[in-house]
Amino acid sequence: MADLLISGAGIAGSATAIALAQAGHRVRLLERAPTDTAPSSGIFVYSNGLLTLDALGVLPEILAAGYAVRDGRNLYLDPQGRTLAETRYPALDGGRIPAIVGIRRADLHRILVARRAALGVPLRLASEIVALTETPGGVRVTLTDGTEHAADALIVAEGLRSGTRALAGWDVAPRYTGFGVWRSVHPRPAEIDAKILVMGAGKRFGIMPISDDRLYTFGTISMPKDRRIDPAQGAAEMAATFADIGGPARQFLDALAPEAEPFYTAVEEVALPLPWSRGRVLLIGDAAHASTPFMGQGGAMAMEDGTVLARTLAAVPDDLPAAFARFAALRYPACAFVQEASRRVGEAGAIETREAVAARDAALARDGQAQVDGFYARLAAFRAETDAALAASAVPVP
Ligand SMILES: Cc1cc2nc3c(=O)[nH]c(=O)nc-3n(C[C@H](O)[C@H](O)[C@H](O)COP(=O)(O)OP(=O)(O)OC[C@H]3O[C@@H](n4cnc5c(N)ncnc54)[C@H](O)[C@@H]3O)c2cc1C
Repeated sequence: MADLLISGAGIAGSATAIALAQAGHRVRLLERAPTDTAPSSGIFVYSNGLLTLDALGVLPEILAAGYAVRDGRNLYLDPQGRTLAETRYPALDGGRIPAIVGIRRADLHRILVARRAALGVPLRLASEIVALTETPGGVRVTLTDGTEHAADALIVAEGLRSGTRALAGWDVAPRYTGFGVWRSVHPRPAEIDAKILVMGAGKRFGIMPISDDRLYTFGTISMPKDRRIDPAQGAAEMAATFADIGGPARQFLDALAPEAEPFYTAVEEVALPLPWSRGRVLLIGDAAHASTPFMGQGGAMAMEDGTVLARTLAAVPDDLPAAFARFAALRYPACAFVQEASRRVGEAGAIETREAVAARDAALARDGQAQVDGFYARLAAFRAETDAALAASAVPVP
């Protein structure tokens, strides 16, 4: 079993720490932030991500804290609230794994932290790697506080602005996508029990339950690269941006105030070709493959990195550089597929002319369900291909 250092205790780092500790490896986590917390806004976890959370041993806690949308219902509305289309996301394993769960990011993090702790994974906060060297049998890092730490390998899970990625020799910068996303959190009226997307011209506004009593909203808009948003003006900016959006979204837009935690994110992506590993240093999660958020899959891909890595280390033991290269070759096609699909959805949301909007909405009504089914069938095929590849390279049991 290996002695592994993971830098970054977000979704990828936490999930990977759990998967590796469950497999019997010694794992230590480093985190730059001074506290082990996450924001309160929401995140969707679709069935494939829930499958990973099941493998990490936390699915019951996720289902208890979050909100599983019955039958995976997803409503597309026009800006006046009229239905354009209705689609259903697929559940897995005969319905045991729901189609889609909304959850507070803080709750997802809390649940991963508790599992990490139960497995005895130590976390060192306020710690950033400032020097990194590869030794014949491992890696050695120096942290901001001057302490040195050795391990068999380093897994970099520092998100899209990873500093250690550059230290390890990758020359990659996040690419601004031309989109911004506004988010806010509100009490959930009982009648909002599905995922809702209001499709405007050049913008989209989504609503998703994240617990029995809360929901979050997310509004996407094209935005110039260096647009600065004054956080003190967040509620007013968000309300003005989506002033032409009505239907069920209106009540939340009218209720925007600092308590709703209006929050703006400029959307960036990291489309890094292989290799994702250099010797005994491996990039995972957003540090390797940050996606635009339009498929709601970045977190799921980050968590699945953890379970696939643990299985790859079992199939290719005693050679960490070879196992890391194999892992990246297994994960690259699925992550690139999600990025590409997400880019296309982002572009459809940016359509502005009346004719193009009408054509997009007609296509949604006509092909929406087939698109959903095709996307999830492809993700299932990637999982099957990974299973087959790992089974083929598995070390035979003597
Ligand atoms: C607007 C928006 C909406 C999204 N919605 C969804 C969704 O609904 N569903 C979904 O699955 N995904 C969603 N995503 C994507 C998802 O949030 C990311 O893919 C996911 O957070 C990636 O996890 P990560 O651990 O790789 O990176 P992060 O979550 O960024 O975590 C990185 C961690 O590393 C730490 N760190 C950074 N630098 C260092 C350093 N030098 N040393 C030590 N620690 C460091 C950070 O403090 C942080 O804790 C969304 C993204 C955006 C922008």
